Amino acid sequence: MLYVSTRGAMEPRPFLEILMEGLAPDGGLVMPETIPRLSSADIARMRPMTYQELAVEIIGRFATDIPTPDLQHLVELTYTAEAFGSSEITPVTPLWENLHVLELSNGPSLAFKDVAMQFLGHLFAYVLDRSGEELNILGATSGDTGGAAIYAMRSKPHIRVVMLSPLGRTSAFQAAQMYSVLDPNIHNLALRGVFDDCQDIVKAIGEDSEFKARHHIGTVNSINWARVVAQTVYYFKAYFALTESHEERVSFAVPSGNFGNVYAGHVARTMGLPIERLVLATNENDVLDEFFRTGIYAPRSSNAVQATSSPSMDISKASNFERFVYDSVGGDAAVTRELYARLGTDGRFDLSSPEQRRLVSDSGLASGTSSHADRMSTIREVSERTGRVVDTHTADGIKVARHFAALSPDIPMICLETALPAKFADSIVEALGHQPRRPAAYEGLENREQRVLVIDNDVDAVRRFIAELSPS
Ligand SMILES: *Cc1c(COP(=O)(O)O)cnc(C)c1O
Repeated sequence: MLYVSTRGAMEPRPFLEILMEGLAPDGGLVMPETIPRLSSADIARMRPMTYQELAVEIIGRFATDIPTPDLQHLVELTYTAEAFGSSEITPVTPLWENLHVLELSNGPSLAFKDVAMQFLGHLFAYVLDRSGEELNILGATSGDTGGAAIYAMRSKPHIRVVMLSPLGRTSAFQAAQMYSVLDPNIHNLALRGVFDDCQDIVKAIGEDSEFKARHHIGTVNSINWARVVAQTVYYFKAYFALTESHEERVSFAVPSGNFGNVYAGHVARTMGLPIERLVLATNENDVLDEFFRTGIYAPRSSNAVQATSSPSMDISKASNFERFVYDSVGGDAAVTRELYARLGTDGRFDLSSPEQRRLVSDSGLASGTSSHADRMSTIREVSERTGRVVDTHTADGIKVARHFAALSPDIPMICLETALPAKFADSIVEALGHQPRRPAAYEGLENREQRVLVIDNDVDAVRRFIAELSPS
């Protein structure tokens, strides 16, 4: 399997060569030359598989340059009941009527990002061990990505993490979760600024190819292809959990920000998994809902992004969306390049012709949005009807899912649980009047010793920090 760029100007390269890169050299995103298709016989054969077996089966089709026994070993190291709370790894539990919850947040940082990031930690350590190289992972986080990356990379040989977070702007739990990791290879920088400032610094350093090469800088951000592939696995696991034959179909509802999670569902559907609808849920930052309603993609300026009670979905543009655009125009890199050039000049592009709208709707994507009041009332209703407490992101997905679930009452609607409520305690107190339950391992988290360096919003300060850590 070789990878190309959505903008067409990259020599095809194998999986392990694109593994640690961010954008392709032409500014596009890497994509497999073709997405592998499964036959009905393949899907029948996969039905009884464990999570680990499914992961080897699916990831192996994309990472053809990792020998199967090695991939098996990496998957077994990653997907343990100890790390994810049960041997099912991502269990499905019923809500009511045809609604179900796919639990993705029982890993170490209590958010779905662990499912892919834990795998990346073991995979990076494996690759670096063989090459003898070192890697400095530079990242920016508004909360969940940082926690997931830090818990995945702590104590891994050959790897350091430098994580920028906006000082005082993550939830108290998220900050304590990141800053209380004292492993010597983890470096938290709390920046005097907002999340976009953190991201701009990571971007500026990423564009400095000389500095990047000299200090072995890599990323684990949401456009990382290996993350997308690792996320594809749980769509299969959930499908098999709720069906008995591949004549049956299911739908998924996905609280979305950078379009990574729902894109993994799109890959599963393209591979042949019988998915009826992929329902994309946004919050007040509804750039993607607007696209699926109108065919017009118009990213917001970063100062137009609203700070909401589902902060991990507060985005101005959706970085993985280019992959979906590329698929929707039939894998035509010239058209994708043209559309993104137009985005650069006009601030928007338009796929609203009837033919383009049909291509998009054939992909099963549908969308909806929630307000703060919707999320609060959903958290209350779920609690009253089932006794279960869901977080604000998951509540957003459930709210949007209900509309589509009612349209097809015979088709299971699987809502992805993207974080546990303990991460967003203030919102739970607002909705329910009491604190959410906290997993035992996190008792007293905020009182633990922390290691974090407060720095100015200055790219050169970050450069100097990296250069001292990792002299060339
Ligand atoms: C990252 C995140 C999302 C958004 O996921 P994308 O893959 O960026 O669309 C949603 N909910 C939570 C809790 C997250 O951490």
